[in-house]
This record gives sequence, C-alpha cells and structure tokens, in this order.
Amino acid sequence: MVAIYARQSIDKKDSISIETQIELCRRELADGQPCEEYSDKGYSGSNLNRPEFQRLLADVKSGKIERIITYRLDRISRSVLDFSNLVDLFGKHGVSFNSTQEKFDTGTPMGKAMLNITMVFAQLERETIQQRIRDNYYSRGEKGMYLGGPASYGFSITETHTDQGKLKLLEPNPETVETLRRMYRMYGDDLMSLGAIARQFNTEKIPSPQGTIWDSSKVSRVLRNPVAVQAGAEVYRYYRSQGCKFTNEPSDFILGHGCYLYGKREGNERKYSDMTNHTLSIAPHEGIVDSGLFLRCQERLDKNTQIDNRKRSHITWLTGLLKCGKCGHSVVPKSSCNTKYRYLYCTGKTSYACCDVEGNLGTLGTVEDIIRDRIFRWAERYSDLRVGVETTQSQERNRLACRREEIDLRIRKLIDMATESNDITAHYLSEKVTELEQERRALEAKEEKLSVGRCDTLRKEVGDIKNTWDSLDLAGKSHIAALLISRINLYHNEIVIEWNYDFNKK
Ligand SMILES: [Zn+2]
Repeated sequence: MVAIYARQSIDKKDSISIETQIELCRRELADGQPCEEYSDKGYSGSNLNRPEFQRLLADVKSGKIERIITYRLDRISRSVLDFSNLVDLFGKHGVSFNSTQEKFDTGTPMGKAMLNITMVFAQLERETIQQRIRDNYYSRGEKGMYLGGPASYGFSITETHTDQGKLKLLEPNPETVETLRRMYRMYGDDLMSLGAIARQFNTEKIPSPQGTIWDSSKVSRVLRNPVAVQAGAEVYRYYRSQGCKFTNEPSDFILGHGCYLYGKREGNERKYSDMTNHTLSIAPHEGIVDSGLFLRCQERLDKNTQIDNRKRSHITWLTGLLKCGKCGHSVVPKSSCNTKYRYLYCTGKTSYACCDVEGNLGTLGTVEDIIRDRIFRWAERYSDLRVGVETTQSQERNRLACRREEIDLRIRKLIDMATESNDITAHYLSEKVTELEQERRALEAKEEKLSVGRCDTLRKEVGDIKNTWDSLDLAGKSHIAALLISRINLYHNEIVIEWNYDFNKK
C-alpha cells in the first residue's frame, strides 16, 4: 500500500498546511490508487517522537507499506542521522521513498548517499536563504516597500519574532484560503471564465475581498497576485519575460515562497499589463498554490487581455471608460447589427445582478457624440489657458537660469581662491564647491522638467482636435479619450466626466 506522510510544526507560522502537503502528495498517485494518510500536526521534525509517524513505522515493519510519499524530505525528519537510519529501515522492508519536491531513486546506494548529502545541504541552504530573505525584507521596509494595507485575499497578517525583531508576514486565512485555491483550480484546470467564477461565488454567497460581490475584474486581480504562488524557477522566468525587476537572486526561488509584486499603477486595471516598472520580491511566507497551476492561470489571463482589447476596440473608442453612475460597474454596448444604435447596459445589472438601474443607459451613438463634443470644448478651454500657463513657465525657467549663472560665478571664484590658499582653507573651499555643484544640478533638473512639461505633449495631441477628429481611427480616438478622461459615469439623464487634467488644480 502507498503511505502519505505529512507534518506541520506549530512553532513555524508560515509553514505549508497538512492539507496542502497531502494534496500535493496525492498528485503523485495514479487515478483511484488507494493510500493511507499519516499526519502529525504540531510536531517538530527534530526527533521521531510523533504518534502518526510511529504508526507509519509500525506499518513499515509489518510489511504493509510499499511506498511512502511526502511533500519534502524534512517532513520525515530534520535530523540527518535519523534520516539515514530511516532510509536503511525503509530499504530493508522494500519500501521506496518519494518526495514531491526532491526527486531521487532511493533503491540504489548512490541514491541513498545523494539523499544524505542533499539533506545536509538543503538544511544549510535553507538557513542561509531564509536569513537573506529576512535581511532583504528588512531593507525593503526601510525603503518604504513594507507590507502595508489589508492582507491579500486568502491570507491574514501575523507577526513573528526573528533575530532582528518583529517581522510582519502573511499566513493562510482559514476562512478564505480554500476559496483562493478553488479559484485557481476553476480558472487554470477547469477553464471556467472569470465571469463564471464570479457568478459561482456570488451564488454561493461567498464575499469578495471588499466584502461585496465578485465580478470578473476582482477575480482577475486575485489570480494575478503572486502572493499565493510557490515561487520556483519558472515563476522567476515568467516575471523576467514580463520585464519585471527583482530584489532577490534567481537562486532564492527554490523555497516555494509566495511573492510580493510592487509597482506603480498606470491607470485603472492596467496594473498587470505592463510590468516594466514593477518589482518582485520573495515574501517570508510559504506559497500555497502550485507554480504550474499559477502560471497556467497567468498565461490564460494574458491571452484574455489581448482578446478583450481587440474585441472592444472594434466597437467603440470609449473602451473601458464607461461606468454605471449608480453602481460603478462597467457599461457595455449590447450587440446589434447597427453600431450607432447599440443600447448601453450596466454589467452590474446584466452580469452580476447587483445593480437595479432601470433599463438601458442610452445608445452608444448618442453617448459618443456627447463625449466628443465635450472633448472639443475641453480642448478649447485648454488652449485659452495654455497661454497663461506657458507665460508663468517661461518666467520660472528664466529665474532658474539666472540663479544657475550666479552659482557658476561663485564656483569659479572659489576655485581661484583655493589655488592660492593653504591646505585647511582649500579643504573648506572644496566642500563649499561640492555644495554649490549639488544645488546647480538640482536647478538643472527643475529647468529640464519645465521645458518638456505636460503642456507640450498635450498640445501636440489635442491642439487641433476639432479638425483632426474625423480623420482618426478608433485606436486614435481611444488614445485621445484615455489621455484626457479617467472615467465616465453614466446616469439616465446625465453624463459626468472625470478628467485627467483639472484646470482648477494648477
Ligand atoms: Zn449599475
């Protein structure tokens, strides 16, 4: 018979759960193959005094067991001496031994030796890497990249004590972690759509991370978060191919830890579409979702985004901007043969049954015309205002340039003085020069900013929009709309535009 052995000690908050260990081991089995489970919860691996492990040993000795599967070697024992004795015992009773993480053939003397050597190095490596990750984590904290805000879905925040003091980390939240695992399986294995997953969870009355209902963008955001992944080399490669930066060495990706993805948000929902200004860090907690499954989900999500963009851009240049004023969900045109007369519907109502806005929110053609006219008006106001803005800017540029000239003059004088002075004064003077040079560089940077300011870009894009609009294709119009507008709230009798550039602010 096949035996599965799992162990989790209570003293280590961030260790992988018994249930996950067993689940991973079961994947090694052929379909329907029977097995016996042995699990010790709250026992350390430093000795063999564990009730279920003793039961397993008894079953080995009585010849019932032919194969033992465990998540990792250290589940059996953390002691090299105990371990090599056990391997001998297993060998005597014809028991083969598998770990889901490390692959060996324990049937040969070489395999056994390898096993022992691996144990020693694994222990050493684990300790070194754990230390490095903690150090890294602390230095990130200093740079303001500390784990902040609410815990990611499926997790809760806990504190652990280390050599360097308290360390905040995530641990699986028993109330939500199963839903999180299920979500990955539904999307990566069962190939359900994001919307279908959201509907399923809503039917089961499972609350979303915000305690409200699920929709496809919430499901997508949770699936995109690498906090749950057991990061390995493939995960490193995936994020590298996306242009991500790393705070860890590639070799740190052997622990199966979760990851934090930090980065600037570029507009709404674009968070994961461009990762060139994102940074990935290995987190101090162990992951709970197999990296293969996680990556299958990412690849599906990547494809999904591409198809979405293509599909949407054929219909309207208002892509992604239209929202229901009542509930905030996206508003989409319902298909009809004539594009102009497509009616707009709130997806909160049609897909997620959480909005009670009545009927439709107008036709696409009417809304497009209104928004276009408002863009024209905005551009007119902007060009009136631009003259004023540019005058102040050129005055400021001038002031900065004068100040820079002044500094240059002082630097030259100081250098002259230094050549005729003794060592002590020369030292003082050179410090002074360094100070002035810093100030000069700061001024240069400011001037630079003023000369290639936002005004120039905007002027190029929308200066003559009234005359160029009709010659633009859908992508061109989309670009202008996204440049100027962050969101459009649709009500029955009103359209409220949230502009990216507010005249009153500057
Ligand atoms: Zn709505």
